[in-house]
Amino acid sequence: MNFDAPLPFSQRVLELSRQAQRDIAGQFASIDAIAEYNTRKVLSAFQNHRVAESYFAGTTGYGYDDQGRDELEKIYAEIFGAEDALVRLQFVNGTHAIASTLYGALKTGDILVSAVGAPYDTLLSVIGVTGSEPGSLKDYGIGYRQVDIRDNAPDKAGLAEAVEDPRVKAVLSQRSKGYSTRSTLSVAEIGELPAIVKAHTPNAAVIVDNCYGEFVETLEPTQVGADLIVGSLIKNPGGGLAPMGGYVAGRHDLVEAAAMRLTVPGIGRECGATLGYNRQLYQGLFLAPHTVAQAVKTAVFGARLMELMGYETEPRSNETRHDIIQMISLNRPEAVVKFCKGIQSGSPVDSYVTPLPWDMPGYEDQVIMAAGAFIQGASIELSADAPKRPPYTVYLQGGLTYESGKTGLMLAAEELLKES
Ligand SMILES: *Cc1c(COP(=O)(O)O)cnc(C)c1O
Repeated sequence: MNFDAPLPFSQRVLELSRQAQRDIAGQFASIDAIAEYNTRKVLSAFQNHRVAESYFAGTTGYGYDDQGRDELEKIYAEIFGAEDALVRLQFVNGTHAIASTLYGALKTGDILVSAVGAPYDTLLSVIGVTGSEPGSLKDYGIGYRQVDIRDNAPDKAGLAEAVEDPRVKAVLSQRSKGYSTRSTLSVAEIGELPAIVKAHTPNAAVIVDNCYGEFVETLEPTQVGADLIVGSLIKNPGGGLAPMGGYVAGRHDLVEAAAMRLTVPGIGRECGATLGYNRQLYQGLFLAPHTVAQAVKTAVFGARLMELMGYETEPRSNETRHDIIQMISLNRPEAVVKFCKGIQSGSPVDSYVTPLPWDMPGYEDQVIMAAGAFIQGASIELSADAPKRPPYTVYLQGGLTYESGKTGLMLAAEELLKES
């Protein structure tokens, strides 16, 4: 039987892909082992909280007394080793969840420190580094300091110096590289920062942007000293099924403060109807460790395939993973468009469209995005994006199934070969 049919691949791509698969085969056992451990972590939390059919019934209107929602928050807290959690569809995206925690943790006259270089692009206008929209942290008189990455690692001495100030009330770090070129930080590396912060400014909240990191390792930042982690449900923890939303997990007072900013002071977490989506949030969380493993395998395959084609990758295909992002340096804007076109053509949805760079809200440069996803913009689904700026690096992530992720990458390889 010809397993390469029915999509038409060239002999060259079939050979490269077989070679890539052989080269990475040894890594799959450890990815599977992490998925197995994390699946048990999730399963045991479901059992401890006696998940039952009745939890899936949703609320409407104000959303008072939503048992499924409230229990899901306790389950997130347990899985992430946190005191408390807020898991809400009303977070429009990860940026909104992170911003809510910052507004909750900071007041006029306080200072926010970003510990590992510039935060994710969309947070720049929230902080007030870029843009002049009303309502930024800067607009409310909250100061900002940034400790840049040094030699591809957190600058611990620089951090100690930056937080030596009683006005520093929150320190933001970020696990994934985002659109920067630094390496993603491991949970162990993220875990070295809280002690430095606490030694100088015990009252500062250590907040970690956990986007793309959930379930890639067996521990989360809240289990190694972070006060709070925040992420998006249309990435890792939604398992591909959550239709929207975000989560915050960590210290109870910080979670409460974020809830007051998500809704309003006095109402906080009491309101927020789930409209019948609890089932997807539960089932998505149940699948998440497995889905994340599929995405990690896709990233490893993508790295190896592109290395065989002569491109630089970060991380390299044989490196241990700390998030689901794969960076590939394509060097030329045309190659980025070709790559994204190939990924798009391998998607289950909108496979016939050609992605082009556009002005995305919250981003400084134009961004090209290949995303043929069931959930709009869900980057736990196979997707590739690139800000239109040198060095023309594409960020690949997701893949609900390894089989489809691999197929998308083979189609991207076809497009790249056509170019030469
Ligand atoms: C995706 C992401 C965010 C949030 O982005 P949204 O599109 O608003 O969900 C924040 N930080 C990092 C590192 C991310 O990857």
